[in-house]
Amino acid sequence: MSVRSGRVIKTVRTLTRSAHEAACAYSTYNCTMTRVDGFEYCSRHILEDKGAPFRQCNYIYTSTGKRCLRPAPTCDRKEGRYCGEHSRQSLVLRQRAARRSLPRETPETLLSQLSHHQMDTQTAGQNGV
Ligand SMILES: [Zn+2]
Ligand SMILES: [Zn+2]
Repeated sequence: MSVRSGRVIKTVRTLTRSAHEAACAYSTYNCTMTRVDGFEYCSRHILEDKGAPFRQCNYIYTSTGKRCLRPAPTCDRKEGRYCGEHSRQSLVLRQRAARRSLPRETPETLLSQLSHHQMDTQTAGQNGV
């Protein structure tokens, strides 16, 4: 066997093996999405794996009343178990709520409000003229 053919065989074997390992094992249809590291399913079908530390996202769409089907990693927090997108979203909402409930009369906020106001009126005046 020449070095060249040996190299080719090695490449092919690596390719087929990685493709097989990477493909999701979802049985209902041939899912081609990449698996989650260490599991047989992709991030969409990871809930099929009962041993995987994922549960359905707790987010409920206000428009449809339907629950998000995406998997959320199970962690120690019981409430607010959301998928990647909705955990980010709920974090933003919480931060916004926290900001709103902050006392507004600190010198810093007053100053920043003032400077913002000045900038606004200046730019508004410039644009108006
Ligand atoms: Zn899948
Ligand atoms: Zn979600």
